[in-house]
Amino acid sequence: MASAHGHEPWLADLCAGWRRRQDWVLQQQIACARIAAPTGNEGTRAAHVQQALAMLAGLSVSRDRSGNVCAVVTPTSRPSSVDDAAPIVCLAHLDTVYVSDDAVEVVRDGSRVCCPGIGDNGRGLAALLVLADTLHAPETRARLRRPVHLVATVGEEGEGNLLGARTWFDDAAVRGLRPSAAIAIDGPGDESIVHHAIGSLRLRITMRGSGGHPWVHAGAPNPIHALGAFIGIADRLGDGTRRQRTVTITRMHGGDSLTGIPQQAWVDLDARSPSAAGLARLRQELEHAAYAVARDATCHDPSRPLTVEVAVLGSRPAGALESESPLVQAAVRATQTVGRKPRSASASTDANVPLARGIPAIAIGAGGIGGGAHTRDEWYDDAHGSAGIERVLHLVLGLALALADVRPRATR
Ligand SMILES: [Zn+2]
Repeated sequence: MASAHGHEPWLADLCAGWRRRQDWVLQQQIACARIAAPTGNEGTRAAHVQQALAMLAGLSVSRDRSGNVCAVVTPTSRPSSVDDAAPIVCLAHLDTVYVSDDAVEVVRDGSRVCCPGIGDNGRGLAALLVLADTLHAPETRARLRRPVHLVATVGEEGEGNLLGARTWFDDAAVRGLRPSAAIAIDGPGDESIVHHAIGSLRLRITMRGSGGHPWVHAGAPNPIHALGAFIGIADRLGDGTRRQRTVTITRMHGGDSLTGIPQQAWVDLDARSPSAAGLARLRQELEHAAYAVARDATCHDPSRPLTVEVAVLGSRPAGALESESPLVQAAVRATQTVGRKPRSASASTDANVPLARGIPAIAIGAGGIGGGAHTRDEWYDDAHGSAGIERVLHLVLGLALALADVRPRATR
């Protein structure tokens, strides 16, 4: 029977226990962040998390074909119906945008810790360990109604293109496993609830021409000049702070020598939109602009045409869950239960993958405050870090123990 789980006495005791272990949680977070895990090279950190999960909770932990660390906690009693058996999946990404493979230098001053990846996603990984420890405890496991999958994912950042989350949900579908809810635990914070998954597209636009001498071949179509015109148009295709569509040129390269008309140049761009249709339209406009500037440049000397190549470097599907959906509402209640103010947010996270497949999914932080994410100066402050951990526990236990119902209304 559903009840106000915020007032379940054993859950209150459990949270009090984690408040006392706040520093232990921070130590787990630091231990994870200390191991370099750039996207595509998460193996060492994955091995650490695998070992920690196995040691903490006595779980059998495996690695899937993409390198994800996967564990599952199953109910001790058999579910009373198929519906009850639909699992919950909690994901925390292993990788960081920080590119060095060297050990990461961690500076701690009281509750404040500085190092790349300490919050994003050292905090999420620490929360995953807390969940493992909690769920496997006999008093929790006896109450479990649904299996809970704990997954430390690879390839969430940048060029990883959500590889780990895609692989997990692909393999789950093959096994006939359809989670009733997915929760990405990502970074610090204890108020925001990400239920709009921003879709994104990373393109490389390459232009090639015949090149030549700046004087002898003056007027030959120049890929850098053409890409310059393209950048001007691309910039205007975004809508700035309205954020219904953004376009960012992220990298550029071109030219071969100081005194030659270049034969080739490219730009990388990142385009985003909260709607799948909006993103598709934006892609069309960007490609149209690239071909248009190349055509214009070629007009000056049709014997030496500029060619355009558009390569997709990555794409993340968009998706959204309504504020009224049971999962968002469960997250709202969990946030209020720990005395915080729920806030709706949009972002691009592992939750994009299940959302795009129609599985209710959100992303939430795991407590504390932080800044400088995706820089070498990232910092995290654990002064009030426990509230976020408690929020995660209230949410996940609420769902897994069927204290709150998360099934989408339409399917009941
Ligand atoms: Zn993250």
